[in-house]
Amino acid sequence: MSTQRRALTSLILEQRSLYAIGSTFVAIGLAAALSYPLLIKRLIDDGVLAGNMARVNELALLLLVLLAAEGVATVIRDYYFNLAAERLTARLRQRVFDHLLRQEIAFFDSRNVGELTARLWDDVTVVGRVIGEPFGAAVRFALIGVIGTVLLIYTSPLLSVLLVLAVPPIALTAWFLGGRVKTRSTQTQQAYAEAGIVAEESLGGIRTVRAFAQEPAARARYGQRLMAAVEAARQRILANSLRAGVAFVAGEGAALAGLWAGANLILKGRLTSGEVISFVLYGFLVARGLRRASDFWGDAVRGLGATQWIFELLGREPHVPIEGGVRLARVEGAVALEGVRFHYPARPDVEALANIDLRVRPGEVVALVGRSGAGKSTILNLLLRFYDPDEGRIAIDGHDVRTLDASWLRSQIGVVLQEPVLFSGTIADNIRYGLTERSDAEVAAAAELACAREFIERFPAGFATTIGTRGVQLSGGQRQRLAIARAVLRRPRVLVLDEATNALDSESEAFVHQALRALDYGPTTFIIAHRLSTVINLDRVVVLDRGRIVDSGPHEELVKTSPV
Ligand code: ADP
Repeated sequence: MSTQRRALTSLILEQRSLYAIGSTFVAIGLAAALSYPLLIKRLIDDGVLAGNMARVNELALLLLVLLAAEGVATVIRDYYFNLAAERLTARLRQRVFDHLLRQEIAFFDSRNVGELTARLWDDVTVVGRVIGEPFGAAVRFALIGVIGTVLLIYTSPLLSVLLVLAVPPIALTAWFLGGRVKTRSTQTQQAYAEAGIVAEESLGGIRTVRAFAQEPAARARYGQRLMAAVEAARQRILANSLRAGVAFVAGEGAALAGLWAGANLILKGRLTSGEVISFVLYGFLVARGLRRASDFWGDAVRGLGATQWIFELLGREPHVPIEGGVRLARVEGAVALEGVRFHYPARPDVEALANIDLRVRPGEVVALVGRSGAGKSTILNLLLRFYDPDEGRIAIDGHDVRTLDASWLRSQIGVVLQEPVLFSGTIADNIRYGLTERSDAEVAAAAELACAREFIERFPAGFATTIGTRGVQLSGGQRQRLAIARAVLRRPRVLVLDEATNALDSESEAFVHQALRALDYGPTTFIIAHRLSTVINLDRVVVLDRGRIVDSGPHEELVKTSPV
C-alpha cells in the first residue's frame, strides 16, 4: 500500500500545476458555499425580521453573485481536475506499458497477454475516475466538513454537540465496510481480466474455434467469467450502498436533530431564527460534506483495490535488465556456451539444457538438430538473453553476455523466430522495423536476399502494401521471407534462424540458404531446420537430445547418422 501511495502521489505531483489551479477554484467555490448560511442569517434577522426591504434586496443580490461565482468556480475546478486526471492516467498507462516492455521474457511465460492488455485499459481507467473531478469535489466536501464544523461551534456550541454524534457511525461504517469494498473490487477486476483472456484467446484463435465449432463453449466460458465479476461487484455494491446509507441517515439525521433542538431554543428565546436557520444550513452542509467525502473514500478504496497490481508491477525490477553494461567496439562473432545448465522458471522440473559446451568460430555456420523439445530453441533464447543460464556462461568474443548491454547485444544478432511476427503497417515498415534510416534500395536488397522481392512487387502497392495486424493477409511462407529480410537488413554479426524457412517450398528454401551463405561479411550463423538437405554449406551439425549435445561434426557425416 505504501508503494502504491507513493507512486500515486508522485503521479499527482507531476500534474501539480493543474491540481493547483483546480484547488484555487475549490477554495473560491468553498468560500461561496460557506457564506450562504451567514448571509441568509443576516437576510432573516436584519432584513425580514427587521422589516428592512432595501437590506433584503441587497443581500439577495449578493447571494446571486455568490451563486454565479460558485457556478463558475465549479466549472473551472472540474475542468482542471478532470484534465489532470486524464493526463495522469495517460502517464500511468505509459509507465505501466514501459514497465511491461522491460520485463524479462520469463515474466511473460507465466502471464497472459490478453489479461495484461485488458488490465492496462480497465484498471487504469478506474484510477482516473477517482482522481479527477471526484477528487476535487471530495477535497471541497472534506474542507466544508472541517471549516463548517468550526463555524457550527462558533454559531452554537450546544447544537454542535448534536451533530458530532453523527461522526462515529459514519467513520465506523466507512472503516468497517471499506476493507470489504477493496477485496471485492480486486476480485471484480480479476474476473474481468480473466474474461479478457477468454476473449483474446477465442477471437485471436477464431479459425480454430470455428473449425472445431467451439463457439458455444467459448461463449459459456466468457459468460462464466462475467458472472463471477458481477457477483463480486454485487457484494461490493452492497457494502458500498450500506456505507452510503448509514452516512446519509446519520448525517442528515443529525442535521434534523439540530433543527428540532434549534426550534426549541428559539421558543425559549435563546437563539434568533436567523441563527438557527444558519446553523441548520451549516449542519446540512457539514453532513453532506462528510458524507460525500466518505463516498469518495469508498470509491478511492475501490479504485486502489482494483489497481494494486499496477503498483506492484511498477515496483518490480526485471531480472534481466534490457540495458546497461558494456558495448563492444567491434564484434567478431565468436560464440561460446560453457557448461551451460538451464531450466525455464515456469517449468522448474525439466532441465531444458544440461551441461552444454559449444564453441563457434566467427563466421561459422552451425546447424542445431534434434527431436522436438531437445533444447535447440532454448540455446537461441539464452544467446539472445531472453533468459540467463542457471550455471555456466555464454560468451560473445570472450565476453560473458551478462556483462554486455542486452539491447546492444540483441542489435548485433539478427533473428528469425519460429513464428515470425509482423506488425500492422507497410511491408517496408516491417522489414525496417525500427531501422528507419535504411534506404529503399537497402530494403529491396534485403527482400531480394530473402526471396521476398518477387511476391512483394506483385502487390499493386509493392513495398508500400499495408498488412493487417500480425500479418494475417500473408501466407506463412511470405511472412517468413519478410522476417528473414528484416533480420538481414540489420547486417548482424550473428544470425539466428529458428525454423525460419520451414513454410517455404524446398526450392525457395535452398535459394534463401544459398543467398545467406553468400552474405559478403560472413556472419556467424545458427540454423535450426528440419530439412538439412536444403541447407547447404554447413560447417558443423550439432545434435541435441534432452538438453545435451550427443554428437557434433561436419554436415555430410552426420546427415547420414543423425537420428532426424
Ligand atoms: P526444441 O527447440 O529443440 O524443440 P526447446 O528448446 O523449445 O526445444 O525446448 C526444450 C524444453 O524446454 C522442452 O522440454 C520444452 O517443453 C521446454 N520449454 C520450452 N520453452 C519453454 C517455456 N517458455 N517455458 C517453459 N518450458 C519451456
